[in-house]
Amino acid sequence: MSRVPECSGFDVAEFVRRVQHPLTTARPLPLHEPRFSGREWEYVRDCLESGWVSSVGSYVDRFEGMIAERLGASHAVATVNGTAALHVALLLAGVETGDEVLVPALTFVATANAVRYCNATPHLVDSALDTLGIDPDRLEDYLRRIASVGPDGCVNRLTSRRIRAVVPMHVFGHPVSMDRLMEVASRWRLTVVEDAAEAMGSLYRGSPVGGLGHVGIVSFNGNKIVTCGGGGAVVTHDAELARAARHLTTTAKLPHPWRYRHDLTGFNYRLPNLNAALGCAQMEQLDGFIAAKRRLTESYAESLDDLPGVRLVTEPAGCRSIYWLNAVLVPDQDARDAVLAATHRAGLLTRPAWDPLHLLPMYADCPRDDLPIAEELFARIVCLPSGVAAPGS
Ligand SMILES: *Cc1c(COP(=O)(O)O)cnc(C)c1O
Repeated sequence: MSRVPECSGFDVAEFVRRVQHPLTTARPLPLHEPRFSGREWEYVRDCLESGWVSSVGSYVDRFEGMIAERLGASHAVATVNGTAALHVALLLAGVETGDEVLVPALTFVATANAVRYCNATPHLVDSALDTLGIDPDRLEDYLRRIASVGPDGCVNRLTSRRIRAVVPMHVFGHPVSMDRLMEVASRWRLTVVEDAAEAMGSLYRGSPVGGLGHVGIVSFNGNKIVTCGGGGAVVTHDAELARAARHLTTTAKLPHPWRYRHDLTGFNYRLPNLNAALGCAQMEQLDGFIAAKRRLTESYAESLDDLPGVRLVTEPAGCRSIYWLNAVLVPDQDARDAVLAATHRAGLLTRPAWDPLHLLPMYADCPRDDLPIAEELFARIVCLPSGVAAPGS
């Protein structure tokens, strides 16, 4: 990605005018909103009439089948939300008390929270300017400096703790450079847990993200491309991991017609059938949602074309992104703050990127690499309204 020219040429009012151009006249226009234009009512009504609204029911099985198929994985286990899915995925990856897990500093806080739920420590690494996600080359340079591979796997020489896993997060739908990341992970004996919460439907070299690592997760929160109110899923190619995920998310109850017998401290993380009914209707519309999002990106690209000081984030080479959120880079933090204020005044509910994790009190003391790109991206990113209903007709 080329550097953005100096701030001097940046015109906030013109930027707001250009961003308005492809959008509906409805204001305020949220960053993202769900659209229920398929068989949602029919499936939810059917679910209520069946009486099976809770964690057992045919919609859960159907939803899991649709997710697995879409992600090119053999198994999907639906959960109450994406954070719960991430927690379980990390446990399946073998993350134990005292371990470290490599996560990008520039991510939604849930990525690090899930690591802490395992009594492990998030270890923060930098991002790439082109993908916005973990930079595998910088990661490997960093590991050479601070880690060694021994009989227990990868060990942080500075803390003597085991580094068990790495969590690539596909920011706003744009795939991380997964081939390189998988190579680095294999050399350093790291399990790859893909956080594909924002990227269901995105393709990396023709293959769906979420199904590329050892285990992956997606989210169906209200702001994601497909929603079931709240929900998530663990996806994997490994039948044994899928079985363990099912067991852990259903209070680790042993199958029996009447006995309540459990063999682990499990979790009540299973997705209710009612939410799965909504999810099935939404999944049927995913291709249409992706097409609408990609049209909106094209409209933004045309409208913002040649505006000095602004660069629309576009899909990395060899990838097809769902553009969950459209993002632009502006020259610096002052320009970003001016744009956020001006767009909000105009009823466009834009957002910056997340505060990087090392700037949050609970993660300030985490081990970390230098994070210049994460800080630069945080200073310069503005996310534009990106809901599937946003474009004007
Ligand atoms: C949304 C999101 C999650 C968590 O999903 P929930 O369903 O909201 O718990 C995790 N990671 C990232 C990157 C997300 O954007």
